[in-house]
Amino acid sequence: VPDAPVDDILKAACGVNTEGYTHQALFYFPLRGGFQALTDGVRRGVQHPIHMQTPVESVRKTADGWRVNDVDFDLVVNTIALPELAPRFEGLPPDVAADIAALEPVSLVNVLVGMKADKPLQDLSWIYLPFEDQGVTNRLTFFSNYSPLNAPEGHTSYMAEATYRGNLDVSQDWIDQLVSGLEHAGVLRRSDVTVTEHWKSRYAYIDQNIEFPARIQRVREWFDASGMLTVGRFGRYEYHNSDQCIMRAFEAVKQIETLSQSGIVEPFVFS
Ligand SMILES: Cc1cc2nc3c(=O)[nH]c(=O)nc-3n(C[C@H](O)[C@H](O)[C@H](O)COP(=O)(O)OP(=O)(O)OC[C@H]3O[C@@H](n4cnc5c(N)ncnc54)[C@H](O)[C@@H]3O)c2cc1C
Repeated sequence: VPDAPVDDILKAACGVNTEGYTHQALFYFPLRGGFQALTDGVRRGVQHPIHMQTPVESVRKTADGWRVNDVDFDLVVNTIALPELAPRFEGLPPDVAADIAALEPVSLVNVLVGMKADKPLQDLSWIYLPFEDQGVTNRLTFFSNYSPLNAPEGHTSYMAEATYRGNLDVSQDWIDQLVSGLEHAGVLRRSDVTVTEHWKSRYAYIDQNIEFPARIQRVREWFDASGMLTVGRFGRYEYHNSDQCIMRAFEAVKQIETLSQSGIVEPFVFS
């Protein structure tokens, strides 16, 4: 799924080793609270009032700003997925709405697998499981290696990911198949598994089909000219990891500062 550099694809096809995404070779993970700890930390540092747990139900451009739900704002920065924004955005031109409707995401289910264990997991961060007999998991994260608190004493945990399109019924049978696949891949013993929990994410990866570049270009151009900033993995439909989303947020802040100094709403420009 990643938008790999063509050079890397050609080298790999000829059997030449490539280094891949070296910018993610070293990373930090919170000891407590999982990845959520990052956004919680950012929130604690913000001195302005923030409304949490407030779903955006409607967005509308007004004569001198924006109206979100029933509140007026000078500026809106969107990070929700464009297909979720479109039905809430009053007055979205039909051609832009049609382009957004065609942006089908690749979805994903995360399955946390907890196991009793008398030794730590292999010293790995994650592995890919590309073969059919390894089951439905495409990537397996060695989750209790990220933080010892990601499993209770005497236990370890994996985070298995399986991608899908459209709908997926995550039944107990399906979970059993996933665990069997992992057993077949040699990474666990079924009898050690004490718990499984799953979570589905409709928006996980971007389907970069042939029409995608032209389609998303039109959508981004329309939003950038509209005076609304739209950023984020699915807010801008860029195949960005969290570090790149944060870099985009810094770019957005620069644009907001420029706008607040000049007061003139120019089309937003991103690198
Ligand atoms: C399984 C998985 C594994 C990943 N692993 C990594 C990794 O190892 N390293 C890495 O760097 N990146 C990873 N990523 C990517 C990373 O998670 C994303 O790039 C990043 O979280 C995107 O941030 P965002 O702010 O654009 O979107 P999100 O974090 O998705 O934020 C969008 C927010 O909008 C909210 N929202 C939706 N609808 C509404 C509404 N109507 N009103 C108000 N709010 C709404 C959602 O609740 C959500 O909080 C992974 C992603 C997935 C799915």
